[in-house]
Amino acid sequence: MNAVADPAVTRPMPHVMNTYGRLPIALSHGKGCWVWDTEGRRYLDALGGIAVNTLGHGHPKLVPALQDQVAKLIHSSNYYEVPLQEQLAATLCELSGLDSVFFCSTGLEANEGALKIARKYGHDRGISRPEIIVYEKAFHGRSIATLSATGNPKVQKGFEPLVEGFVRVPLNDLAAVEEVARTNPNVVAVFLETIQGEGGINPSRWEYLQGLRRLCDDSGWLLMLDEVQCGIGRTGKWFAHQWAGVVPDVMPLAKGLGSGVPIGAVVTGPKASGVLGPGNHGTTFGGNPLSMRAGVETLRIMREDGVMENAAVVGARLKAGLERELGSLPGVKEIRGAGLMLGIELDRPCGVLLSRAAEAGLMISVTADTVIRLVPPLILSADEADQIVALLAPLVKAFLVEPAA
Ligand SMILES: *Cc1c(COP(=O)(O)O)cnc(C)c1O
Repeated sequence: MNAVADPAVTRPMPHVMNTYGRLPIALSHGKGCWVWDTEGRRYLDALGGIAVNTLGHGHPKLVPALQDQVAKLIHSSNYYEVPLQEQLAATLCELSGLDSVFFCSTGLEANEGALKIARKYGHDRGISRPEIIVYEKAFHGRSIATLSATGNPKVQKGFEPLVEGFVRVPLNDLAAVEEVARTNPNVVAVFLETIQGEGGINPSRWEYLQGLRRLCDDSGWLLMLDEVQCGIGRTGKWFAHQWAGVVPDVMPLAKGLGSGVPIGAVVTGPKASGVLGPGNHGTTFGGNPLSMRAGVETLRIMREDGVMENAAVVGARLKAGLERELGSLPGVKEIRGAGLMLGIELDRPCGVLLSRAAEAGLMISVTADTVIRLVPPLILSADEADQIVALLAPLVKAFLVEPAA
């Protein structure tokens, strides 16, 4: 999980529930990949609101479109047709090769929808206690069901009893999944992040995904790929699994889809699209006109401006810069990821780099204790990528020669 700021430096907000360790910095406004705080200090944004601000801040095409929508209709309920839902769903289907979409507001909600589809898919086939294969180090959200699917004891501790019906395996070990297939007749789905985000930027190998696709076809299981963090162009493809040439049956999306406006989606293919019917699922905010407009405009602007292609090119440059400056240092275990979803794994916990980067004018995150995560807006320029390297490299070098704390 994300490293949080040292409690000694956080400022009290007595009426806001204390669930985050925040840095003592209040952000005021942004432009492109830059954000200013209330003291007038400027930061280069290599965090993107945790892989959310696809188009950066104050995008000149997105802002007027959202202003127009706010003035027209923000919310109307699913008692009525919302034409923007069909428009966004059609685009998501075109980009993914899938055929149906359920809209919601967050990543965990998209994953809840996926889990409900999997269980109902099982019941429809006469499996009364359906089970879902999930992964070590996975992160799927903070609701009771999604934290149960998550493979991180820190997320689960204190919230037991966990939801049952999950079987856990290690990532990239096809034999482990084949073993479950041989021994567990109740399995209905395999559920994983194409690239684990919170778990430390751990990519599924392409052959592994291809193997899972075959196994799901042979076993009658759903392949459910959580692309909440790695989807929407971040890795240089619309969806990260497209690098492996596979098509999932269920794909939860959220984070980057609305460039900061809350939105989630469960995109499904033929095996899964008919599983839920009227009365099976719903949510008040899901598919509201403001979030739909944000999704439609985000994808439109990305296509018009080649934003995904930019993520591939600038991401490769950023990775090369990090490799050059840090790759051979003792203490740097691996630099990995694709496009603008990169992780630098160190050989020790490095949460302290969060505040040091902020002091240097750079916003980053540290996840899984030892991994510096870079998930900037996808409009990042080559020059800004170089600036990230120039700001980050000296901090990491200095940190690695310090005596252990
Ligand atoms: C962030 C994240 C979630 C949870 O999304 P929320 O919007 O915070 O509920 C789920 N899955 C993955 C892969 C994520 O990165």
